[in-house]
Amino acid sequence: MGQSLNGIPDVAAKHLCCGCGACAYVQPDAIRMVDDLDRGRRPLVQEGSDTGEALEVCPGKGLEHTFDRDGSEWIEELVDGWGPVLEMWEGFAADDEVRWLASSGGAATALALHALEHEDHHGVLHVAAREDVPYLNQTVLSRSRAELLAATGSRYAPASPCDGLQRVEDAPAPCVFVGKPCDVAGAAAAARKRPALADNLGLTIAIFCAGTPSTRGTLEMARAMGVDEPEAIDSVRYRGKGWPGGAEVTTEVDGAARTERMSYGASWGKILQKHRQWRCYVCADHTGEFADIAVGDPWYREIPPDEPGRSLVVVRTERGRQFVRAAVASGALQLERVSPDLLPASQMNLLHTRGAVWGRSLACRMLGAAAPVYRNMATGRIWLRHLSLKQRAQSIYGTFKRVFTKRLREPAPVVPFEPLALAPHADEREEAEAA
Ligand SMILES: Cc1cc2nc3c(=O)[nH]c(=O)nc-3n(C[C@H](O)[C@H](O)[C@H](O)COP(=O)(O)OP(=O)(O)OC[C@H]3O[C@@H](n4cnc5c(N)ncnc54)[C@H](O)[C@@H]3O)c2cc1C
Ligand code: SF4
Ligand code: SF4
Repeated sequence: MGQSLNGIPDVAAKHLCCGCGACAYVQPDAIRMVDDLDRGRRPLVQEGSDTGEALEVCPGKGLEHTFDRDGSEWIEELVDGWGPVLEMWEGFAADDEVRWLASSGGAATALALHALEHEDHHGVLHVAAREDVPYLNQTVLSRSRAELLAATGSRYAPASPCDGLQRVEDAPAPCVFVGKPCDVAGAAAAARKRPALADNLGLTIAIFCAGTPSTRGTLEMARAMGVDEPEAIDSVRYRGKGWPGGAEVTTEVDGAARTERMSYGASWGKILQKHRQWRCYVCADHTGEFADIAVGDPWYREIPPDEPGRSLVVVRTERGRQFVRAAVASGALQLERVSPDLLPASQMNLLHTRGAVWGRSLACRMLGAAAPVYRNMATGRIWLRHLSLKQRAQSIYGTFKRVFTKRLREPAPVVPFEPLALAPHADEREEAEAA
């Protein structure tokens, strides 16, 4: 794809990996996903392996749209900035418990539950907290309402749901896949290579995503709440229990449970977003352009503190359209059709990021750092039309600085994190990398 990459290790080394796990699904004998404290979920590759097959499905190296822009009913005004959109809806899960626990209005969980209960789907491949180390994530195949409920809510921490795609391929009936836009792009690329996976990928749902913070981000958030010992952590939530809800870290020491809380604004705005992996700064798809359905927050108006959640539901394919209609008919979702304007009005920051990607990628290439390649995805036009002169200059000059501060021209080694040990401090990490 125009990028000179020598296999999966090169994607990670060149700071292009987003951690989706698709490579580990395609070549499980050669690749396994590990947690890297400061970077995210990363592929650990057996030395000497040829990872060419995995590289073909890797969304980290870049993305390409192949839909016929002129030949369908796409909402024309949204295509450049937001990809293919057939319909826009706003609403919430009719099940009050789902709506309360979920991140926004629970649309992702309500659609998944509808698939299990009314569409004969076998399971839902998605992400939940690890039971043994609750501040890390694991890929799970949920098969019941209880299992789905246990995994509601956004987890602002590394997750690689594509590493579980074999379970979808092996399932006796189609499954739903839920993930971030890059996860869905990885699953879609893998399905193009593996017909058995394509046959069983019944529906893909993407959650909007501004970027994945590293595990260090979660531990810093816990530390800011007064929780200094990661091994005492019993559970971590980032959102939900209201809209957007707040972060919650529960600890248990000598049988005594304690719950610390922090607002969403403080946890995401002041701590987590500063720990986003570099690949997210050069990500052009924050709204799940390769999914059947994408869901996000309708932030176009002030949200009163006690308002129950609502979701923006973006229908991107005909299969997605039929699913949404059936979920409304079964009573799983309550939705109303809304104007396309509400997408930019809700998520203008994501449109600006898409534009900034053009300037950031240019700056990276000028200084010899790698950047993903995007085909049939307007970034230059958005840079020109939607960014001010200052923002355009900032996207280039700010990146010149980051290439050095983030050491983007130096290889990024994958350093597996041993969660049972205390998190190494920055200087210990540097020693490990130098070794
Ligand atoms: C890293 C991150 C960044 C985000 N950035 C934005 C943003 O810029 N704009 C915005 O509107 N919303 C953002 N969100 C929130 C999310 O997109 C919305 O809340 C979305 O509307 C889902 O809400 P819901 O109530 O339908 O989901 P729920 O019904 O609560 O279901 C959430 C689903 O997402 C899955 N999931 C949770 N965390 C992850 C993860 N890290 N990786 C893969 N799958 C996961 C769960 O397994 C579950 O199936 C972000 C979420 C994350 C995890
Ligand atoms: S982006 Fe996904 S497929 Fe590519 S190297 Fe990273 S984990 Fe593997
Ligand atoms: S910002 Fe883009 S690359 Fe980063 S986690 Fe979200 S979808 Fe993936």
